[in-house]
Amino acid sequence: MENIKTQIKKKRKDLNTWFTEGVNSIAPTIYKEYLIQLYNLEKYGLEKHEFLDAISSSLSFTPFSTEKVLSIKDRLSKGEKVNKLEIDISDVCNFKCPGCTFQYSYNGEQINPQALYAFINEIKLKGFTAITLVGGGEPSLYKQEGENLVTVVENLAKEGIEVFLITNGFSYTDEQIMRIVRAVKGIRVSYYNFIAPGEPQNKNEIVDANIKKFIKYIHTENQSCFLMVGNLVSYASQRDYKFTLELSRKFGIPITPRPYISIKRNAYSSLEKSKTIRLLDRALECYEEIEPFITKDNPIAAREFLERVLAYNLPLEKKCTVTELGLTGKLRANGDLYRCGQLSAKSYLINNLPNRNDFYTNIYNDVKASVDNHVKGIKGLTSNNICPVCRETLNNVRLNNFDNLPNNIKQTVLNAVLQAYEDGKNLGNFW
Ligand code: SF4
Repeated sequence: MENIKTQIKKKRKDLNTWFTEGVNSIAPTIYKEYLIQLYNLEKYGLEKHEFLDAISSSLSFTPFSTEKVLSIKDRLSKGEKVNKLEIDISDVCNFKCPGCTFQYSYNGEQINPQALYAFINEIKLKGFTAITLVGGGEPSLYKQEGENLVTVVENLAKEGIEVFLITNGFSYTDEQIMRIVRAVKGIRVSYYNFIAPGEPQNKNEIVDANIKKFIKYIHTENQSCFLMVGNLVSYASQRDYKFTLELSRKFGIPITPRPYISIKRNAYSSLEKSKTIRLLDRALECYEEIEPFITKDNPIAAREFLERVLAYNLPLEKKCTVTELGLTGKLRANGDLYRCGQLSAKSYLINNLPNRNDFYTNIYNDVKASVDNHVKGIKGLTSNNICPVCRETLNNVRLNNFDNLPNNIKQTVLNAVLQAYEDGKNLGNFW
């Protein structure tokens, strides 16, 4: 009889089919040409930069692939309904991450369960099938009128709503972990290489042990829940890249690094070309140190990270198709339903604007009206000039430019993408 560790290792390898799926299956030369045209990189004199070779030959993890939006675009063109909504059930948090998006926002709010379930009912009527539970605030700390994170995810599963959970992985019992892996489709545990002032000194040991428990219970409960670890990487910090590699060695599950970007950085203040080149040179130098060690057993989804470094430093056209189509949004723990997650963290600016109702409505006032208004979408949010450097940039660039690419490139990319997400595979129902 194989011991449980060996069995888990084998199962993990079976789940790692993503190494051959989606954009990983596209030849790097074609993918590079695709990026050059998608971002119009000749205009910025970047079409020969080696950074593009690194992106094109790096690994992309299908559930978080930058190309997933193309499968959603395809479904929209066929009249299907696809929406992304994030819900922050709790504004309460036990960590004090210095880069927290919500450090300027409200504190201590927890959503009322009746309001939450009334909201879920409304979005279901609008055709939503999947949501992401996240924070500002930590979802595992939710406690209201007998409800908690476990009861919420179990109730959503009963309602036929798929859940992706983003958590700091600290406050869990074994029983909670077991019930959560049965109820949700995917989990990303955030794991950062620092202990901020005021945080528990044993933070990383506990998170470490809990990630191992999540892995164990996914196996023992025979669940197909996607588990990954997310970390923040300063593009120029060699230490952060090495820490990412350490995480992949320690857990053997996909690590999804994201570049650390301040929510305060305005999307309109683009960098000069020479600064962008220096930045790409430095990020490449750091990435090349770890690239030879990224393997199936030490999996790091680097492509999404590298493309973000590129996209966040280009002076791209600010046209926000995702909010125009009502594809995205975030329900905050105080009942505010925002057009987009990034702007929900800028309530301190929005509340001074005369048109603040364009940015959010509150579901406690009228849940149906709030949801109706939200799904209609809205034009022109970027013209307020308060958008930060935004994670929807990668989706917007595809929604805005993909149709204008040469047919051979479009077909190659689209075929690979549609295969990777057919029938909701690889968390294809999530944004
Ligand atoms: S921050 Fe601005 S560009 Fe980004 S999703 Fe929100 S409205 Fe769109």
